[in-house]
Amino acid sequence: MAPKACDILIKNACVLSMDAKRTIWRPGAVAISGRDILMAGPEREVMPKISAKRVIDAGGAVVHPGFVEAHYHTTMHLTRGAISDDPKRPAVGTSGGGGKGKPIYVEWANAVTDEDEHASAQLACLEMAKNGYTCFMEPGTVFEPDAAAKAAEAVGIRGSLADAYLSDALGGTQMAALDRSPPTLERALKLMGGECRRNKDPDALIGGHIAVYGSGSASDALLRAAKQCADDNHVVFTQHQSFLPQAVETDDKRLGKHALVHFAEIGVLGPNASFVHMNILRDDEMDAVVQSGMSVIWHPGNYLFYGVGKTVRQRMLELRARGTNLGFGSDVCKLWSFGELPYLAYLASRAQGDYISPGGVLEIATLGGARAMGWQDRIGSIEPGKRADIVIRRNDLPEACPGTDPVFETVLVARSKSVDTVICDGQVIVKGGHSTRLDESVVYEAARASARRLMAKTGLKGDLDWPVMGV
Ligand SMILES: [Zn+2]
Repeated sequence: MAPKACDILIKNACVLSMDAKRTIWRPGAVAISGRDILMAGPEREVMPKISAKRVIDAGGAVVHPGFVEAHYHTTMHLTRGAISDDPKRPAVGTSGGGGKGKPIYVEWANAVTDEDEHASAQLACLEMAKNGYTCFMEPGTVFEPDAAAKAAEAVGIRGSLADAYLSDALGGTQMAALDRSPPTLERALKLMGGECRRNKDPDALIGGHIAVYGSGSASDALLRAAKQCADDNHVVFTQHQSFLPQAVETDDKRLGKHALVHFAEIGVLGPNASFVHMNILRDDEMDAVVQSGMSVIWHPGNYLFYGVGKTVRQRMLELRARGTNLGFGSDVCKLWSFGELPYLAYLASRAQGDYISPGGVLEIATLGGARAMGWQDRIGSIEPGKRADIVIRRNDLPEACPGTDPVFETVLVARSKSVDTVICDGQVIVKGGHSTRLDESVVYEAARASARRLMAKTGLKGDLDWPVMGV
């Protein structure tokens, strides 16, 4: 039989396929044709069947599916270091009325321009790609979604966007009452589903889904409409939920029962629902989540950062054991970056006496994220027919040694340090750790300029009060 032509052949690799059996091929090979994976398997089986235009020798290093970031606010990416991390010195802004006390994330969001949203999203997407992420889901918090879409397309990663800040009730969360997105049912219903227009082109890198902001900022009418719109468009429906004990208390009082039980009763849960945070779940809510078949987007970063564990025990591994799909979401990279959540999730679990294997966190970061986005047929594993979203690691660094357990070492030890080449949609977007598409220094300068502008507008000065000399 004549060998099949393909565009890229990755050989001499330790392929973590993430197929149903979690097969590892070592040495393995992956053949890519156009956007798709054509063939993957043991090198001795794949090589004779393939004639490749381009061959990438992985040098024996690990190759795995691109990670999926299931919840990221690209517009807030530049807040790190600007908005205080010190709970005793909460950040206070001065915009919008001379420091009259608008929450600082609201001030930041009110200050951003389309140019800022683009600069912030571009840095976030570049950071994702360089850390082995090939896909992200933005939860409806970009005022100008085209700015984020352009940024992601320029970097070359996949993503899904939603209509901005859908909310119709002031309760629950500050972010649902921004200058540019008044929380009314009329506005929310008018915008809802607009971003799903992106799904008309099945080959588009950027798709759309349905999001409401959540955390108590949506009426039952809005939640029902959002779930219906997601069903009609065959996409996922996402919202923030049960992040901090105070929010849960407010929900309990407002609803007269536990929130997830209420959501099950009004019919807004289901296999296409993916709720983020879900730190506080009581027994009746656990049952509602499990029975609905919904996904939960786990955010161990903010869980640790805000000390949620002081009063609450996370129940993610219990959900997982009962069959609920989990993805990971970074929310806003405060001090963590992309690629650190599997490690943080592992440690957060150990800290409360639980255990998840390195393979378990890798499943959540790939297959779980794909499923949480409703894209499980498209991405999440290295199997023929799926899109070629693939990360090639490097072996020549101490953290990638001794090579005894490639999953343990890659996910928990080397983490992002060993990312060498990233392929998304069949295109090499990162090579030797650097973007093949963009002049990275231009992205960094745009991000710095945007952060300077936003800090000036909001009156933020950062926490560092050491004298900076030579200025
Ligand atoms: Zn969030």
